[in-house]
Amino acid sequence: MNYHFNSDLNICVDYFVKKNTKDIEIFFLTHAHSDHLKGFKGFDRILYCTKQTYNFLKEMYNFDDISCKFIFNEIELNKPIKCNNFEYEAIDANHDVPGAIMLIFRKNNQYYLL
Ligand SMILES: [Zn+2]
Repeated sequence: MNYHFNSDLNICVDYFVKKNTKDIEIFFLTHAHSDHLKGFKGFDRILYCTKQTYNFLKEMYNFDDISCKFIFNEIELNKPIKCNNFEYEAIDANHDVPGAIMLIFRKNNQYYLL
């Protein structure tokens, strides 16, 4: 399994299949390999990923900024960001695709590495 659903944070990472993620608003994508993009076609909610990953998506799914239905939030590396009721920080995953990240989430002093 290449995806992570976290019910404490109410987010989903690297998984987009609509029927299984009905109550999730916020999605994170660590990188643009197809095994992390299950269900992405027609995605229409909130996406956090790096600019490089977003650019790969653009090429892969052939959308432009106008017809694109989801809301893109750019992730910057090594910078703790507040989001809803949690905080996250992205670090370089050193994977074989540019823009790949690992994510550390924090909520009420609980840490989640996804
Ligand atoms: Zn990969």
